[in-house]
This record gives sequence, structure tokens and C-alpha cells, in this order.
Amino acid sequence: MKKIPSSLEKLSKFVGNTPLVEVTCEFQGKKVTIFVKYEAWNFSGSIKDRMALSILKSGYSCGRLQPGETIIEATSGNTGISFAAMGAFMGHPVEIYMPSWLSEERKRILRFYGAILHEITVEQGGFLKCIELAGIEGSKEGSFCPKQFENSNNPAAHLMTTAPEMERGLLKAGYADINAFVAGVGTGGTIMGFFRHFSQIMNDFQAFPVFPVNNSDGSHRIEGIGDSFVPKILSLSELGRVIRVSDSDAIAVSRNINKMGLSVGISSGANLLAAAQKAYELGPQAVVGTVFSDCNKKYLSTDLCSGSEEILSVDFKILDYKIIS
Ligand code: PMP
Repeated sequence: MKKIPSSLEKLSKFVGNTPLVEVTCEFQGKKVTIFVKYEAWNFSGSIKDRMALSILKSGYSCGRLQPGETIIEATSGNTGISFAAMGAFMGHPVEIYMPSWLSEERKRILRFYGAILHEITVEQGGFLKCIELAGIEGSKEGSFCPKQFENSNNPAAHLMTTAPEMERGLLKAGYADINAFVAGVGTGGTIMGFFRHFSQIMNDFQAFPVFPVNNSDGSHRIEGIGDSFVPKILSLSELGRVIRVSDSDAIAVSRNINKMGLSVGISSGANLLAAAQKAYELGPQAVVGTVFSDCNKKYLSTDLCSGSEEILSVDFKILDYKIIS
């Protein structure tokens, strides 16, 4: 086992141990309670910092990653921002392959941290091309490709940190443990990590993946999830039925969360709505958990912050929330 650099140890202190929030909502006239890890409070502002830290630690400890090497990754934004910020902190150059249609803020933040950004259009092959190119470039001498879509350290980050933190937070505050979990799927790291952790301690634990309702051309406005292919680490056969959320609903719910003072992005709106729907369906026995994956700052130029009206297609409202640990 190789030595982990002290800069990476320092970084660890900025990742994880995020607030646990109890959100009370009304779905189809019925009160439901959802428990949420508020992941905007991580080093670079998203849940992906946990995965990036876990991959960098494992890269260093097995000797696959050396100081000063270039980190090259394909991403829909947050992962790239995590590696760009961590790379800047630790002295690693970073190159990012990202689909061109993602928000301007993502691109500007990546460049701001000093990363080289390669934008890939639909015509050039979109996300799958990003993964292919990052894999090729990242396998060259002096480079390291985290391969978030297939790296087991991605779900392991949530198995080892996010999910046990939720369990401990609930216990400390005197609440019952969650028996179902709902999350939007990008790489599938979050949902698989939660599923693995809670399945170890509960027999009939269920996890439900959330995907966007796609337009006829496959597009949607929930950045970070539903990347149009099934990642290797996502084991759909072990999970419950897929929940589809329209981007319009996700935006409307995300706006409501923001208006109550919690900064979140669009996928957080999808997660809360899907969790409330699942809690409603499963009935009074259900204790449902989810995550708010990132904050609103990367969405200033998107429809989240535009004046256009998004009408909720379901009877849903947020009543209140409080931080429980
Ligand atoms: N929401 C946002 C905003 C994201 O950036 C991501 C990661 N792409 C996710 C949700 C999904 O997380 P995961 O990759 O762990 O499935």
C-alpha cells in the first residue's frame, strides 16, 4: 500500500458529513416525510466529491496514480468539477470530456479551476464518445482516468460514507431507519451504494432508480442523470421499478425547495418528487430517503432560473423541513 499525499488527507476533511434534512411534503393530499442528505455542502459543491475522493485515494494507495499526473475524465459536469477542484488543490492537471449541451456554468467553473475542457457534440457522438476519448487519453503514460461509470470505488464511496452517515444521523436523532431509497441515476454510484449498505442491515430494503421522461430525441433538462446508456456499475435487476420524472416537474419542485432557502439543482427536485411518490405508494410503513445532489449555482443560465412557468403535473407540495443532524 502506497502513501496517500497529505493534500489528499486535508481534502478529506471537506468531503462528507453533510446535513441530514427531514422534509415534510403532501403528495395527493397525504402527508409524507422524506429524509435527505444535503450534498451541496461538499468541497466543490456536489455529491460527486465523495466519489472523486474515493477514486483518488484508491488510485494513490494502489500506486496507479502518481503526484503531478494528469487526471482525464468524461462527465456531465459535477464529476469534472470535483476532479478539477481537487486537481487544483493537489497539483494535478485535469482534462475533461463533456457533452456540449450542458450548462455554461459547468464549463466556466471547469476552466476557472484550470481544467482543459473538450466539448463533444451529439453529432460527434455525445456522452459515449466522451467516455471513449477519456479512456484512450487517460490510459497514456502520465495520465489517470477515474472511469466513474465502471469504477467500484464510486458506489463504494456511498456504501462507506453517504449511506452510513444517513443511518447514523437518523439513529442519533431518534428516528426509524429508512426502508426505501430513491435517487436519480447518472453513473448509478449513489443508488448502488445506498442499496448495498442498507441491504446488509435490512432484509427487504428497496431502492428505486429515477430517470427523466425523455423527449422524442432523447433530450431532457435534468442535468446529471439519464445519460442515455446503462453504466456498468448500475445493477438494475437488483433495484425496484424505475420512477420517471418529467424535467418540468423536477424544475418546479426544485424551485420550491430553493424558495424555502435550500440551494439545490434540478435533479434534487426530481429526487424529492420521486421519493414523495414512493412514500405515498408504499404507505405508512415506508421511511424513504434520498439526496439533494448539488446546489443551484450551476443552473443560473438554465430553465431552473428562467421566468418560464413549469406546471406540476401532480398534486404535490413541500410543507416544511428541518435539519435533524
Ligand atoms: N444529480 C446530479 C446533479 C449529478 O451531477 C449526478 C451525477 N452525474 C447525479 C445526480 C447522479 O449521481 P450518480 O452518478 O451517483 O448516479
